[in-house]
Formats: sequence, C-alpha cells, structure tokens
Amino acid sequence: MSDLTATERERILAKSALFNPPDATLPDGRRDLVGLSREELAAEMAAIGEKPFRAKQLWHWIYHQGETDFAKMTSIAGPMRAKLAERFVVERPGIATVQTSQDETRKFLFRFRDGQQVETVYIPDRHEDRGAVCISTQVGCTLSCRFCHTGTQKLVRNLGAAEIVGQFMAARDSYGEWPSPKDDKPRLLSTIVVMGMGEPLYNYEATAKALRIIMDHEGIGLSRRRITLSTSGVVPMMDRCGEELGVNLAVSLHAVTNELRDEIVPLNRKYPIEALIEACRRYPGASNARRITFEYVMLRGVNDSEAEARELVRLIRGIPAKVNLIPFNPWPGSPYETSTLPAMTRFADILNDAGYASPIRRPRGRDILAACGQLKTESERRRVSAAP
Ligand code: SAH
Ligand code: SF4
Repeated sequence: MSDLTATERERILAKSALFNPPDATLPDGRRDLVGLSREELAAEMAAIGEKPFRAKQLWHWIYHQGETDFAKMTSIAGPMRAKLAERFVVERPGIATVQTSQDETRKFLFRFRDGQQVETVYIPDRHEDRGAVCISTQVGCTLSCRFCHTGTQKLVRNLGAAEIVGQFMAARDSYGEWPSPKDDKPRLLSTIVVMGMGEPLYNYEATAKALRIIMDHEGIGLSRRRITLSTSGVVPMMDRCGEELGVNLAVSLHAVTNELRDEIVPLNRKYPIEALIEACRRYPGASNARRITFEYVMLRGVNDSEAEARELVRLIRGIPAKVNLIPFNPWPGSPYETSTLPAMTRFADILNDAGYASPIRRPRGRDILAACGQLKTESERRRVSAAP
C-alpha cells in the first residue's frame, strides 16, 4: 500500500466523520444496545458491574432471537431484566411507511429519532423462498451520478451502525423471520446488498461495524458470501473493504471511457477508470467462485453501443467478473431513457461470447420507485459543510 493511498484514506475517513449521526442516547438517558460491537456491549455490562457472560447472553437475545423487550428475555433473572430496562433499550428504526409492489418487492421508509429518513428494499426471488435486502448507508449522497435519483439529494448525514443493522432487523420483523435461521435452512431474507442510498465506502466505519455484527455467527450469522457491497469507485477504500470484511464487491462502472464516466459518474474525475480497474484486480478474495460484479446501467444512445461492449471486455479481461446490465430506471425529471431491448441484447451477447455472465436485470419494484437508483427521501441538509 503506497503512502499516498494511506493518506488519501485518512482524509476520506476524517471528512466522513464530519457527517456522523448525532449521539443516540434517548432523552431519558437510556442507550440503545443495537449497533454496539461485542466489545462495546461487554464494556457497557462491565460498567454496571456485570460479567462478560451477560453480554454474550444479550447478544443472543438481540441478534439471534430478535427480541426487543427485556421482559421477554427469559434466561435472564427478573431483577436483572428490570435493571437492564432502566438503563438500555433495544431499538428498531421507526417505520414511516411500507409499500409493496405488484411484483412483491417491499419498500420501507424508515425515520430515525432525529427525523432523518432512508429507504430500504426487500426484493424476493421470484422462484424461491429467498430474497435480498437492499440497505442504505447514508441519508442522501455526496456524489451526483447523473442517472441516480439519490444523487439529486445532498448528503444529509451518515447512518450509524445501529441504523444500518436496524434496517435489516426491521425488515426481518416484517417477514416474521426470527429467530435467525440456521445456516443450512432456507430463509426469506437470505442475502444483503449494500446498494441503497449513499456511498458505503464514504461511510466505511459504520458500514463495516454493521456488517461485522450481521456476519457474527452467534447472531444473525449471514456469511460474507451472502453480502455484496456496491461502490461507485472509492478506490483508496476498496482494499480495506476486501481485507477487513471480505464481502463480495460490486463496482458501478457504467462507462468505458474516462470522458463519459467523468460526466455520468463524477467521482471518476478523482479515481479514473484505470485506477478503478487496478483496484478490482487487487481485490482480495476475488476468484472464479467469487467474482467481482460490474454494474452497467443501460442508457439509450449514451453507453450502449457494440463498440462499448467490446471495450468493456478489453477493460475487464483477466478479472474474475460478471456484468450486471441494469436497464435504466427512470425517476421524475430524469435526463435519460432506457436502452432498447435489441441494444441491450447485442451488448449482453458480446460480453457473454467473451465468457462473462451478463444478465440483463429485470427491474423490480418500479411502480413504487423501489428499483435501483430510484430511492430518495424528503430529508434535507440542515447544516452546510464540506463533502468528502
Ligand atoms: N452508491 C453505490 C451504491 C448504491 S447505487 C454505488 O453507486 O454503487 C446501486 C446501483 O444502482 C449502482 O450501480 C448505481 O449506479 C445504480 N443506479 C443508480 N441509478 C440508477 C438508475 N436510475 N437506474 C438503474 N440503476 C441505477
Ligand atoms: Fe450516490 Fe451511488 Fe447514486 Fe452515485 S449511484 S449518486 S454513488 S447512490
């Protein structure tokens, strides 16, 4: 790792911290136990004179059983339950609305205690009893990709780890899927895609903390293979994500020349295509069994020519990869049109012929604005400060 990258990473983390959420203590002084790491939970217990065993017990109740009421934590003695309830809560984000699409996709609008809102989407598999939860990491986004509805909403703030884990836990409540199923049992909420609102690698600390909680074997226990994090290309953070979390990586490529990518994914001006592709080549754990996903939004007449498909093949040659072709999802006022089906098919054929699986994604939940790139909330920034 070069010194330059390390410095750049420090800069990103420092700027990101400016957008961290307000302190989560309730007005009555109680603290939420959700979102604490195991070590932090143990420290909370130590502070009230309890042994580490108590933290282990609570972890099980919170993340395996999904229990939010101390009174129902029956393996804990009555007086202890009361003592915990005086000092702590096990919260869920408030649900403002829930909408279910004709295709069964379900969108949650969550409202946090400070009034800020994000959206989370559950996308059921159409053929089997499983599906993906698409979670958000920021209220708004600092980046402004031209085709993305979230990108029209300024970054309001980062989500905290509790708010990120809380989206998944509340979605699970909604499908009645507690206690956490054992690994081999099918589950409705079987995978997580970190592809909702915001750029997860610009809120790395909280995202990483939340994913570690979700992956913990004694709790929710989703393996890293069932989690995919999507980035628009925050190159200096990609290695760290791979080394520390080892989750699957999706990269929002969308263009094969710097000229076009500079325009539609403005982060490209900072981290151009060559640097991004290099970071993908280095991504720890990428292999034929665990491919990197390149996301490519199909914009009619903008990035969907056969020449661009061939250039894409050249760019990613040698990387164990697949390409998700995402038909552009329109939103109110959006400046693009979706590519025609023949154009998408020709594009996909070129990639497939070169050996890259390249499914054309079927849009899900468009009728309730729940599809990729359609998420946005009313939250507005209250203070102005420099964006990372
Ligand atoms: N900020 C991250 C993750 C969230 S976006 C990122 O950009 O990767 C999830 C995916 O939806 C990204 O690939 C994004 O480029 C894509 N997307 C955004 N707007 C879209 C739209 N209108 N139609 C289709 N896909 C879109
Ligand atoms: Fe932000 Fe991703 Fe949307 Fe770009 S595509 S504006 S990075 S959420």
